[in-house]
Amino acid sequence: MTRNVITFSKNVFLPLTTVCRNRCEYCCFRTPVTEHCIMQPVKAEHTLACGAGLGCTEALFTFGERPEEEPGFERWITQAGYDNILQYCHALCEKSIDAGLLPHTNAGVMTFEELEYLKPVNASMGLMLETTADIPAHRNSPGKIPEIRIEMIENAGRLQIPFTTGLLLGIGETMQDREESLIVIRDLHKRYGHIQEVIIQNFCPKPGTPMSGRQEIRFDEMCAVIRMARDILQEDVAVQVAPNLADAASLIPCGVNDLGGISPLTIDYVNPGHPWPQEDELRRSAGNYILGERLCIYPQFIEKGWFSHELEPLINQLVKHLSGQETVS
Ligand code: SF4
Repeated sequence: MTRNVITFSKNVFLPLTTVCRNRCEYCCFRTPVTEHCIMQPVKAEHTLACGAGLGCTEALFTFGERPEEEPGFERWITQAGYDNILQYCHALCEKSIDAGLLPHTNAGVMTFEELEYLKPVNASMGLMLETTADIPAHRNSPGKIPEIRIEMIENAGRLQIPFTTGLLLGIGETMQDREESLIVIRDLHKRYGHIQEVIIQNFCPKPGTPMSGRQEIRFDEMCAVIRMARDILQEDVAVQVAPNLADAASLIPCGVNDLGGISPLTIDYVNPGHPWPQEDELRRSAGNYILGERLCIYPQFIEKGWFSHELEPLINQLVKHLSGQETVS
């Protein structure tokens, strides 16, 4: 991938459950257990079919971490026909492949065995490191202990899973913490070669959360972190910003070369007040750079064959499709 290309992907976002064992102080995604706390299979399958019809290539399964630890959740997942959320996710990943979308799962912290279970049906997976710092915003979130997250990213490397991670900026960490977090990611990639992109995401305060009054990170600070990321991370790791949260056009010159996933169908359930820009807006943001659509598995991992037999026909088909559009794949 050359530096004068800015990439993005087209996805549908499926929040399989909003129940989560953590209590991050900036979160507006998490909800208590209710009879509506699980995305129903029929709705999920409808979303997959509509997304494929609209030209999406990725099904993004993002949901609360270890919801089974929350009292009452088990009843609803059992009623949906599954033992646990990861089993449900696995089944929907299979449906997604059938529908023509490559699954990418971000289920929070998972064990080596759980990653191994989901790997054959996922083209890539992700977990935001967020920060290596111990911060008050995470005091009631056992899954946000940095060592636990680093261990999972390391396990994904051992399993050769093309991986997305990133930093969340403005949640109580210092510039030094950000540098340390980037160094940790760089070192993991040095050992396992599995990090395909690092999201530099700015925290946006949400009404009704304990951090609703917190200042957002300043533009110059955000730019400095992107430059630092570009300096620290290896050349083959993309630096991504979320174009619905930040001014992509102004940040691209700082070293951004990916704009993440946008959707023509589903909202950003984690940041519901921030609609996705559409493709023509991204093209305007890219300015003189070439805007190229990519898959959720980056080209270097397709070349290395880091995917399962289950995914091979679909990856080949989508690569061919994107090449036909004269975009990068
Ligand atoms: S882990 Fe994610 S879903 Fe759970 S409370 Fe934290 S931000 Fe919300």
